[in-house]
Amino acid sequence: MPCQTRNKTRLTWLALGLLALSLTPAAWAKPYTAAATVGMIADIVREVAGDRAKVDGIIGEGVDPHLYKPTRNDVIALSSADIVFYNGLMLEGKMADVLVAVARRGKPVYAVTEAILDQGGYVMTDEAEHYDPHVWMDVQGWIKAVEVVADALAEFDPEHADEYRARAEAYTEELTALDAYAREAIASIPENQRVLVTAHDAFSYMGRAYDLDVRGIQGISTESEAGVKDIEDLVSFLVENEIPAVFVETSVADKNVRALVEGAKAQGHEVIIGGELFSDAMGKPGSYEGTYVGMIDHNVTTIARALGGEVPDGGFGPGEYQVQSGDTLTSISDAHGITVAELKAANDLNGDSIDVGQSLRIPRL
Ligand SMILES: [Zn+2]
Repeated sequence: MPCQTRNKTRLTWLALGLLALSLTPAAWAKPYTAAATVGMIADIVREVAGDRAKVDGIIGEGVDPHLYKPTRNDVIALSSADIVFYNGLMLEGKMADVLVAVARRGKPVYAVTEAILDQGGYVMTDEAEHYDPHVWMDVQGWIKAVEVVADALAEFDPEHADEYRARAEAYTEELTALDAYAREAIASIPENQRVLVTAHDAFSYMGRAYDLDVRGIQGISTESEAGVKDIEDLVSFLVENEIPAVFVETSVADKNVRALVEGAKAQGHEVIIGGELFSDAMGKPGSYEGTYVGMIDHNVTTIARALGGEVPDGGFGPGEYQVQSGDTLTSISDAHGITVAELKAANDLNGDSIDVGQSLRIPRL
């Protein structure tokens, strides 16, 4: 059962943490600094490094990494960090010079997609053979990035290597469950509507992983402008296939997507904007969408819902359950594949009594 493995991992992890605390108290008192270009990578580093690192995310919420030029402060942050992570595959096109300069000074600098590139055939390209950098859209692909971060931190701080690997393993379990949710959610969309039309080509890995036909108005980098013909072709596609919804992205201007909606309307086909997706940047720091899991959950749930799929109210995130007569904490926990302790923790329950009709939060761990 996955829960048992997870609990075991957590215990091991806790034990390792306590052991490390007693042996090297200085390491806890003084965390090192890890810098990461985009939020999705900063999130992995936070998950894997835990309290051992102070993580500095360079490119913020709603900001497009393809066009991002590093500021003076970014250069300082990258230069003064102890270890640096970036995506690679030309995502951070305008940061390449700084990253190269930092690496030349002997600092550990890692591209999280490096291992993926070594596995021939995984990385996607466009017609002009440019690499598609949006690997995080396939959760299985991002799990490989978690491995890269764990290996890098283990090499950087070998004393705590086991701790990094244990944390990476626990996070990978959560991502594996998210991957299963994404597959199920997308599969619930009627087959003839399983088409994702967005502002730029950020979703090809998602399309390949979860069987979704993906079309972006702009190419894999937002540097390329969309032509009038690109828009016209997509409008015809929407009309002919009676696609009900198109999507905007938080880090890209929405004018091209609005042009699609108006173009389809002029031809008598009503298409709605199905929601705002997180393509190349996560949501607000501190919010659920400000985590990688929340970002993917939001995207998958929004897409599935707008295109006629069936997803739970809370998506992959915490769900609700109304207590029925005869229910016990054990029966509810068993039915949702979680432990009684997890159920009680999610609802701040001290005792074992629950009332019929009471609403309980069901954590999806
Ligand atoms: Zn992009």
